[in-house]
Amino acid sequence: MNELYNNLYDEDALHEECGVFGIYDFDANDVASSIYYGLFALQHRGQESCGIAVSDTQGPKGNMLSYKGMGLVNEVFTTEQLEKMHGDIGVGHVRYSTAGSSTRENAQPLVLNYVKGTLALAHNGNLINAAELRHDLEYTGAIFQTTIDSEVIAYHIARERLNSKTVEEAVGRACRKLKGAYSLVVASPRKLIGARDPQGFKPLCIGKRDNAYIITSETCALDTIGATFVRDIKPGEVVTITPENGIVSNLDMTVPKEQEARCIFEYIYFARPDSHIDGESVYASRIKAGRFLAQDSPVEADLVTGVPESGNAAALGYSLESGIPYGTAFVKNAYVGRTFIKPKQSARESSVQVKLNVLKEAVQGKRVIMIDDSIVRGTTSDRIVKMLRDAGATEVHVRISSPPFLWPCYFGTDIPAREQLIAYNRSIEDIRQIIGADSLGYLELERLPQLVNGLPICNGCFTGNYPMDPPTEDIRGDYYDKEADLEKRILSRP
Ligand code: SF4
Repeated sequence: MNELYNNLYDEDALHEECGVFGIYDFDANDVASSIYYGLFALQHRGQESCGIAVSDTQGPKGNMLSYKGMGLVNEVFTTEQLEKMHGDIGVGHVRYSTAGSSTRENAQPLVLNYVKGTLALAHNGNLINAAELRHDLEYTGAIFQTTIDSEVIAYHIARERLNSKTVEEAVGRACRKLKGAYSLVVASPRKLIGARDPQGFKPLCIGKRDNAYIITSETCALDTIGATFVRDIKPGEVVTITPENGIVSNLDMTVPKEQEARCIFEYIYFARPDSHIDGESVYASRIKAGRFLAQDSPVEADLVTGVPESGNAAALGYSLESGIPYGTAFVKNAYVGRTFIKPKQSARESSVQVKLNVLKEAVQGKRVIMIDDSIVRGTTSDRIVKMLRDAGATEVHVRISSPPFLWPCYFGTDIPAREQLIAYNRSIEDIRQIIGADSLGYLELERLPQLVNGLPICNGCFTGNYPMDPPTEDIRGDYYDKEADLEKRILSRP
């Protein structure tokens, strides 16, 4: 039987967990459409489910309208639904699940009614102490309706609110209990709040359009709705936005700069190239990665090309540095949605080829350098190399704009179990043979901080050295590898 399948040739790719978008418009009552377009710009961060919750700060507290569903933003929402959602404050979310299963209940934003009114919350990242926090709450009578970390956060905010003067104080107190990665947007009855974990794993920024303030994962969402970038929310910062006071910042949770740990994969792959994170252009980081590959893994060739989309900028960087011409070698079908029917194993159509085809005229008789952002299991790379050869490339040299993956991620990226990683227990020469390339080069680990001008980064999935101790419970669903985790713990004992 055919299986419904998402992502096709991306089946060997990594997935970001979520994108968040919040807005408070001091003048108008129709934020739902801005949230819709903001989420549309963040769709690359999660394609499984999405949702919007809006409220009217002038209306009765507790009156939050929300709608969410499985699928892409343009599949879930209709014009009629958006027109019914009146409000001047709201949050939206796109999700790809790593912790908590992929169901409608687990879609966000979460809307929580409690004695002080209603909260809507959208969260990006994984907590490493979610199980402990959940247990504490359950022990004191909480009943959970979802299996996601975000509900744990929402409950903690609601509980802290009972002992706090303001909702932002409650958010700050709840955040102090969280360990791991979180970029949060919360709409309370009268305030829009954003919070970023002290390491700053996931991005979060503020924008402004006329008298509306926006808090979102990426600056590309600001551009899409015609807003201007105001600033990034700092790692460990909680900001509160109201008409009375504008943006008010609380930096109580910040840590020394060297303890910050931005996910370097945001720059290499997850974020859109037209976004800026913490002052660094994602596009420029990828160009640099390509330049470093050209310096560290040079090879003679006739053409440099990128595996679309994330390999393109690095390929241009390689070309600029090496002088080898850059060209397009792949044509991508952009219309493969969430419910595409995956070809049968026996079918002549290849999953990869349905989505990606080679421009024969571009590669025929040429020595090609193919740049990709990562190799996870390697199941796609070998097919793409073969496609280039079948189209007439005389040599295929593969360059990867990240170091080899060797460890799991606990902070929101679905890196599979170690033994499924192609680089686990294999040399680069072994991998080269498996994918059938003439040569293979990865970005050097030492180059990673240079991609972001020395900003402190997390590189745990390449080194096994995480910015904080990994969790003791399974937090990553199917991707969690207990044996490897145990092995790491034993090896790392003093
Ligand atoms: S382990 Fe890797 S994917 Fe996870 S946060 Fe760190 S750099 Fe990002």
